[in-house]
Amino acid sequence: MNLTGNLLIGAQEVRATAGAMRALNPATNLTFAPDFAFGGADEVDRAAQLADEAFDSYNATSLAVRAAFLERIAGGLDAHARVLAQRASLETGLPAAQLEAEAAKSATQFRQFAGVVRRGRFRQATIDPAQPDRQPRPRMDHRMQKIGIGPIAIFGASNFPISYSVAGGDTASALAAGCPVILKAHNAHPGTSEIMGRIIQQAVKDAGLHEGVFSMLRGDGNAIGEALVDHPLVKGVTFTGSEAGGMALYRRAQQRPDPIPVFTEMTSVNPTFVLPDALAARGAQIGDGFAERMLVNVGQACLKPAILLAVDGAGYDAMREAMIARVHAMHARTMLTPGIQQAYRKGLDRQHAAGAETIAAGVAPTGTWDGQSYLFEVDGARLRDEPALLEEVFGPAALLVRVKDTDELVAIARRFRGQLSATLHLEQADLSLATRLLPILERRTGRIVVNAFAHPQEVSDASIHGGPFPATSDSRFTSVGMTAVERFLRPVCYQGFPDALLPEALRHDNPLGLWRLTDGEPAQS
Ligand code: NAP
Repeated sequence: MNLTGNLLIGAQEVRATAGAMRALNPATNLTFAPDFAFGGADEVDRAAQLADEAFDSYNATSLAVRAAFLERIAGGLDAHARVLAQRASLETGLPAAQLEAEAAKSATQFRQFAGVVRRGRFRQATIDPAQPDRQPRPRMDHRMQKIGIGPIAIFGASNFPISYSVAGGDTASALAAGCPVILKAHNAHPGTSEIMGRIIQQAVKDAGLHEGVFSMLRGDGNAIGEALVDHPLVKGVTFTGSEAGGMALYRRAQQRPDPIPVFTEMTSVNPTFVLPDALAARGAQIGDGFAERMLVNVGQACLKPAILLAVDGAGYDAMREAMIARVHAMHARTMLTPGIQQAYRKGLDRQHAAGAETIAAGVAPTGTWDGQSYLFEVDGARLRDEPALLEEVFGPAALLVRVKDTDELVAIARRFRGQLSATLHLEQADLSLATRLLPILERRTGRIVVNAFAHPQEVSDASIHGGPFPATSDSRFTSVGMTAVERFLRPVCYQGFPDALLPEALRHDNPLGLWRLTDGEPAQS
């Protein structure tokens, strides 16, 4: 695919209006062609106008047409998997084989959301039939379905440049909900973004949809993101990135004359609790597994296990040694961007300043933007005194916490802010302690894992990638998994409607064959 570096606004290619940039290969620290255009508020306005024009017809597409559109995108991703992976590898320093698997995951997500659309349950069709003889007053016929909320601005993530970027889960779920998408491409991988943007643009054309269903913009600094969040025709936002960036955009959206939902996925340390019998039985194995997962993607993963807590006793030293061995042997690897590497180094300094002792360091860096792996240790008392130790260090570092006793373990569990996940390693004899921890963790996390690690995240109907603040800005929703579509839906009630005027999902003869809730009972009628 020939890259032009242009912005994609509907079916149009738009040249730079606000400067341009080149992609950086973080492994070589060299930039390379072509120039990638920056746009500004005018381009945001054009994309938003088009998305608004597209909304009514796209939101009204039949389930079959919408599902087929999502499958077209999946086909395009499959066809370009290799070229996508090669470009993404140059722009991120991540291995091409891993990125090809990411492209396959991305295509699978679009197919999974096509399945969600075909089944139609996301409409949540609900019918309360008329009760003309009800006393003391009759009930009119009430029917409810969910529809898309309107054009969505999506901030592509930096750390999964394919599966959570332009053609990632946010885009797939917003399109599944019937919402046009305006994508703010991350500047960390502009060529990868363009390839994915073109695949979606082509699918819009081939499906015969309104061109405004998809646009892809790029900008310099915060101005373009701010213009997107401010635009009156944008009706929702998703974001993956830093807590500072996510909360700035969240607050901005709440200050609009018409506040809109902003779904941010920001920060999590994914605490791992190794309970005493599990520690004694398989401490070394758990330590090795933890260290392996903390180093995946150079530690640049939202589900990286970053803090391991265990009560000092049998198995602790074996676990500690296994962690040290793996971290010690790890070579420094290229991080995604200079900014992320610099933030990582600041995070390491913060750990030192907060009293964490370095117990292992990986092989020293050779490249400018390499991240060296680190393992720190503190005792439970220090952790309780120093909230900074509970903050995310985005990169290949983790903290081991030597806890005095089970009461201290439970007390520390209460210190954590909201998390995407927490993990318990346990044996049968640990169940009573696990039962004490469970309600504490349920209040603080979106997913609790037993005897495994949270990473990688399954993408399925029951999977949840969300959690209380600051993991996300809205704990009621997930950004990964099939229920991610619910972020972009709102209910509409149709009262006293003649059948001919009802949406298909709510008609009397149920032409779509949907499962519907009628008088509170599910039925396919
Ligand atoms: P970021 O700095 O938060 O940027 C994410 C996106 O939002 C970028 O497109 C950025 O545009 C835009 N943006 C950020 N702040 C903005 C603001 N105030 N107004 C308008 N737009 C704004 O995240 P990042 O560059 O991907 O990574 C930086 C740090 O975020 C990492 O070091 C890590 O701590 C954290 N992070 C966490 C996760 C996670 O899953 N937990 C994932 C990725 C990153 P520009 O690039 O133009 O600034």
